[in-house]
Amino acid sequence: MRTIGLLGGMSWESSLEYYRIINQTMKNRLGNLHSARCLLFSFDFASIEALQHAGDWEVLTEMLIEGVHRLERGGADCLVICTNTMHRLADKIESATKVPLLHIADATAEAIHLAGISKVGLLGTRFTMEGDFYRGKLEKDHNLTVLIPDEGEKEIVHRVIYNELVQGKIRQSSKRAYLAVMANLQSQGAEGVILGCTEISLLVKQSDTPIPVFDTTTLHAQAAVDFALSET
Ligand code: GLU
Repeated sequence: MRTIGLLGGMSWESSLEYYRIINQTMKNRLGNLHSARCLLFSFDFASIEALQHAGDWEVLTEMLIEGVHRLERGGADCLVICTNTMHRLADKIESATKVPLLHIADATAEAIHLAGISKVGLLGTRFTMEGDFYRGKLEKDHNLTVLIPDEGEKEIVHRVIYNELVQGKIRQSSKRAYLAVMANLQSQGAEGVILGCTEISLLVKQSDTPIPVFDTTTLHAQAAVDFALSET
């Protein structure tokens, strides 16, 4: 079994989910007492969030690369950045290490194609919904059409992530707001919705809506297990 390197703490609320899903998936695949070989380097999210909103992506790049090198020294065989937003730095991280990066958008796109869907809505932080690093990858590398919420809806989705979900606050009113945004995307032609922030699945579950949802946390964690169990 190969060792999974997790770059986490963004936020720890979702890193916990990664750890749980990775180990549960490993147990389901191998049985009994099996669990994953993994390393976690976890950031203090307060400093990450402040730099994101200040637009200081250069310092964030340095911080994440330092975290990657710690995982590398610890013997990680692959890298899993446990947040959609910080995949904005994926290219720079990839060029700073020889350890393969398992990109969250690749794992997500694979599941969308398997579901026979080509037009999807995307929920996430403003950085993820608006930046080209995520939508662009889904559209160019995976041939998907990606719809994003309108300006007012984007503001709600972004605010709930930073003011509530990354702080472990799960509110019914926010769940209703998210479901309304998802229904609106569906009325515009989305056949499914990407939960493109690793904390959204703490708020909205597939059982809450008839619209197919693609939970990036679960899909990314499962891709890590696939990697760990694949032949070297
Ligand atoms: N975990 C979130 C994501 O998947 C948001 C927190 C962050 O900015 O990293 O985008």
